Amino acid sequence: MANKLIYVFGASQTDGAADMKNTLGGKGANLAEMCRLGISVPPGFTIATDACTVYTEQGQDAVRKLIEAEVKQGVAFVEKEMGKTFGDANDPLLVSVRSGSRASMPGMMDTILNLGLNDEAVAGLAKKSGNERFAWDSYRRFIQMYGDVVMGLKPEKKEDHDPFEEIIDEIKAKRGVELDTDLSVDDLKHMVAEFKALVKNRLGREFPNDPWEQLWGSVMAVFQSWNNDRAVLYRKMNDIPDSWGTAVNVQSMVFGNLGDNSGTGVAFTRDAATGEDMFNGEFLINAQGEDVVAGIRTPQQITLEGSRRWAVLAQVSEEERKSKYPSLEEVMPAIYEQLVKTETALENHYKDMQDIEFTIQENKLWMLQTRSAKRTGAALVRTSIEMLQQGMIDEKTALQRVGADRLNELLHPVFDGAAIKKAKSIANGLPASPGAATGQIVFFADEAEEWVAQGKNVILVRQETSPEDLRGMAVAQGILTARGGMTSHAAVVARGMGKCCVSGAGAVRVDPKARTMTVGGVVYKEGDWISLDGSKGQVYAGKIDTKDADLSGDFGKLMDLADKYKRLAIRANADTPEDARVARNFGAVGIGLCRTEHMFFEGDRIKAVREMILAQNEEGRRKALAKLLPMQRGDFEGIYKAMDGLPVTVRLLDPPLHEFLPHDEAAQREMANEMGLSYEEIKHRVDDLHEANPMMGHRGCRLGITYPEITEMQARAIIEAALNSKAQGITPKVEIMIPLVGTLREFNLQAKLIRATAEAVFAERNATIDYLLGTMIETPRGALVADAIAKEAEFFSFGTNDLTQMTLGFSRDDIGKFLPCYLNEGVYEVDPFQSIDQTGVGQLVQAAADKGRATRTGIKLGVCGEHGGDPASIGFFNKVGLDYVSCSPFRVPIARLAAAQAAIKE
Ligand code: PEP
Ligand code: MG
Repeated sequence: MANKLIYVFGASQTDGAADMKNTLGGKGANLAEMCRLGISVPPGFTIATDACTVYTEQGQDAVRKLIEAEVKQGVAFVEKEMGKTFGDANDPLLVSVRSGSRASMPGMMDTILNLGLNDEAVAGLAKKSGNERFAWDSYRRFIQMYGDVVMGLKPEKKEDHDPFEEIIDEIKAKRGVELDTDLSVDDLKHMVAEFKALVKNRLGREFPNDPWEQLWGSVMAVFQSWNNDRAVLYRKMNDIPDSWGTAVNVQSMVFGNLGDNSGTGVAFTRDAATGEDMFNGEFLINAQGEDVVAGIRTPQQITLEGSRRWAVLAQVSEEERKSKYPSLEEVMPAIYEQLVKTETALENHYKDMQDIEFTIQENKLWMLQTRSAKRTGAALVRTSIEMLQQGMIDEKTALQRVGADRLNELLHPVFDGAAIKKAKSIANGLPASPGAATGQIVFFADEAEEWVAQGKNVILVRQETSPEDLRGMAVAQGILTARGGMTSHAAVVARGMGKCCVSGAGAVRVDPKARTMTVGGVVYKEGDWISLDGSKGQVYAGKIDTKDADLSGDFGKLMDLADKYKRLAIRANADTPEDARVARNFGAVGIGLCRTEHMFFEGDRIKAVREMILAQNEEGRRKALAKLLPMQRGDFEGIYKAMDGLPVTVRLLDPPLHEFLPHDEAAQREMANEMGLSYEEIKHRVDDLHEANPMMGHRGCRLGITYPEITEMQARAIIEAALNSKAQGITPKVEIMIPLVGTLREFNLQAKLIRATAEAVFAERNATIDYLLGTMIETPRGALVADAIAKEAEFFSFGTNDLTQMTLGFSRDDIGKFLPCYLNEGVYEVDPFQSIDQTGVGQLVQAAADKGRATRTGIKLGVCGEHGGDPASIGFFNKVGLDYVSCSPFRVPIARLAAAQAAIKE
């Protein structure tokens, strides 16, 4: 590979730029860009992502050979910029080594700080800085981090504490001090010796004293961390390709722990939880950056306004706030002003909300990172709409900024108002990620997974979370941590996942060994119920009912904007008047699928359906159908009313019979009673109806063809309800849909019955209405002969669930047994029942659409399978040129946005 692999950045020279993320990773590209903007950034160099690929494919010797000369040049560049020498005993250049891939993966990969220290250099650093305590503290931090990350010295059991932290605690206990900062230089020297002994004892190797060995060890560890479990999982969850690799940034250290005129912090140019246009963030005086991210100490707020708001939430008096937790604005006004100028410049430059990291070394501000900020779905919507209003971005950009699936979070539940009034608040922490969650306490991420697999709802409670907890966080209803601020990993990752999180609830004492948490003297055990309000930072005892969120304001504006750009219409799959109302509120412009069999799941209705199925002859069936007719008519009237003036597609009965049959003896006896038959007769009939492949069995139009009286009853109910509605001043727009059609003859047999029934009702009532008669395209044959079917069918709706089932030959009901393996092996990239298999099933959709249009110009085409609510599939349906997609009511807003994004992309 002849490509350049090392790119330097600094005041005198910068090779990279913001648009080189693929090569430099996000962090490296943005560090270079900040240098170009004249912002003070500690100098360094970035090792390109291609080197990571060489590491993964060919191993560490190959990559070292490839980059060794360039890395030496890079170090020489940093030495020149800083006027220091790497490994120098008198004035050593210290560096950080950090990962940075194309897409940000907060905390998933590794970082090493203070690299370059050894037994000689520590003395030089002490002398040069005039701060012996700082030098030895930096050295012990380095050994701790390197020992963990590069040498792999971890706790032996998950319940154990970190072995380095155990040594720190022992020394503190011996000395009778509480804070790290109370330790003396001698304590720190002793700590360094103990750390080294720990490494030697546990690993059988010396801690490396040679800075170059340290550097290579760290670079390789960062490459290696691209493939650690949590990084692999994070990529899977966020659709980041494994092939991208990470860049490595080697950068001169700057020190936030040089005393009270130093510090370090993390900030957001807007509020990451709500999107409010308010600069905010946290900092620690006399600390290194990792202290803020790890949530070791309670951080202070950057702005005065933020500090005051924090104090209210944390129930800290103004006096205490001012003396113990003053804002940066109060304690370092000049630095604060410079920071505000920088954040404003960065947001204006990138035209997006930024997440920045900075260090103050002896009253000088250094920027360590800027990146597009992760934020909640609500914050994404608000920042996009406000940046549009502020003239920073245009309408299309505003629409594309919000990942359609992220709207899901806004549709998430909040606590029920009445229930929350009665609830007992036991603690408060920071509102790290909004939403409401209720569940049983678990203390370990792997156990969260096990409990959820057993069908339980859990709240993951941790002292502080580390990225290793990702799996547990992903499945938990919510996350509660005792430590950590708004920028701790728990908070950042939870917001990214749209998961309710309360962090830094200081009153909560977590004892993972005993599997308890104690709050105000009350002990809560594993399995006890608690509830979290991630928007307010409140923790409640017990289980609290939740209810749906209400949507207006910026959300409404985004939806209006989406409607302006989208071409596809969005309908909903709804089977009840209530679902139809919800769907219309979310902006559905019709019902694309009313599954009439679903109308019978409630209460006693199932008995009438069973009676119809179990009837031994036409007469018995007609008796049962007579009971069903008024129920159906009433439901249709309710739906027509809810959708007044908008189309409603009613599908004829399509019950896989096994879903409706009584299978146990008690239920069979009850049906026998109802129908005046013997138990044996019913049992015999159930056995008779048993099918080997019920999904390919006696369902859909096959049922209506064998038992025409069923179709007649349904057609009557649909038409009578429409006439009744019309008489009440409602405008029903009826579309009758025949399921599971594979031949024109099937369609015609059913169509003839429906038309005859409609005519009969018109004659009886002496009134008429218009209706359309169409079909589902959901069998592969139906798709292949769609040109013939379109001769009679007035519309098509693609039933992509069955079309996927039958095209792939995968049972819709049993795919769980092999799908995880298939996804791991890359047989399919995504679950084909969630996101349409564009290359396979997609061909049938495209062909049927083309054939349908060839026979009947302008034939109405829609989709009503689950794929109708999936953004990627919506992109495909837009390309095929369908007229609408139909999805579950709660996905309607997502589909509206996805349809707009698809139209913009075209
Ligand atoms: C389909 O098959 O895609 C469809 C919408 O019908 P159902 O899911 O009811 O079989
Ligand atoms: Mg179907």
